[in-house]
Amino acid sequence: MNDLTNKYTLIDGKVVSASVLVDVKREIEELKLNSIIPSLAVVLVGDDPASQVYVRNKKRTCDEVGIRSIEYKLESTVKETELLELIGKLNNDNDLNGILVQFPLPNHINKQLVINEIDPAKDVDGLHPINAGKLLNQINGLVPCTPQGCMIMLESIGINLSGKNALVIGRSNLVGKPMAQLLLNANCTVTHAHSKTNNIEQLTLNSDIIIAAVGIPNYIKGNMIKRGSVVIDVGMNRISYTKDGIIKNRLVGDVEFDSAKQVVSAITPVPGGVGLMTVACLMNNTILATKLQHNINQ
Ligand code: NAP
Repeated sequence: MNDLTNKYTLIDGKVVSASVLVDVKREIEELKLNSIIPSLAVVLVGDDPASQVYVRNKKRTCDEVGIRSIEYKLESTVKETELLELIGKLNNDNDLNGILVQFPLPNHINKQLVINEIDPAKDVDGLHPINAGKLLNQINGLVPCTPQGCMIMLESIGINLSGKNALVIGRSNLVGKPMAQLLLNANCTVTHAHSKTNNIEQLTLNSDIIIAAVGIPNYIKGNMIKRGSVVIDVGMNRISYTKDGIIKNRLVGDVEFDSAKQVVSAITPVPGGVGLMTVACLMNNTILATKLQHNINQ
């Protein structure tokens, strides 16, 4: 086959996230019939520009689907104890169903302490050790949004995951580890790579599914991918380039899209891919948390 004519499916984050949000809206309408309005607290510490954009997108999507969102903005100099106190208050507020603390946090704040403080029933990021343990034990709980979104993208192309060789590159608690667990729970044969992995190309060339969550622009090239593989690009890397003498920025993934599309059977774009799913799954988790708190059956 001529590489230039390789037919592949673009797994469009706009389309797949829209279908998630349709379900979310329907569930919200049902909750409202019982006078329940799902509510999400979003805590932003400091003035990191990327975090401000993420929080704005999350709030906008809350407005679109009918989730009440309340933003708590704290100075970057806020004391760790003050942040923990705020989380304690949000935990005890019965009108709030979800708590999201936007990361990264300033260096003087211990991220894990903050995660541990969030009531697991309101932990819409799915990062609390209790929710991580539930995922490990295949017990219904709140699953981190980005890997949840990646699984929905895989489902959207109707792939039978059972027995597939899946490679997850990256082992953060936020993306890589829960991603590998979800694929394992779906009966994939999972290989987990990270910065100490030797000869990554040998692994990528042997994989039916590659999930790239590394944070290095264009790290995976087309010649590292087995023909017919499915590639989910989680990476969101802002790079600078010069056009007409002007320095500009653009977002690229961990996968070099133009060379990868010559060999894959399906791939997600960046932007317009996993990022949109993360926000949609946050809405999903807020509804799930609301239902769990009201003992409404899933
Ligand atoms: P992270 O915490 O920095 O983790 C990066 C992982 O990549 C680490 O496990 C690291 O290994 C591994 N790694 C680094 N260099 C490597 C190399 N040369 N070869 C193989 N593995 C390597 O990042 P993250 O939070 O998981 O995020 C990963 C990427 O996804 C970033 O670009 C981030 O912006 C993006 N992201 C996107 C979304 C979305 O909604 N689309 C959401 C979250 C994150 P070690 O553990 O050995 O250090």
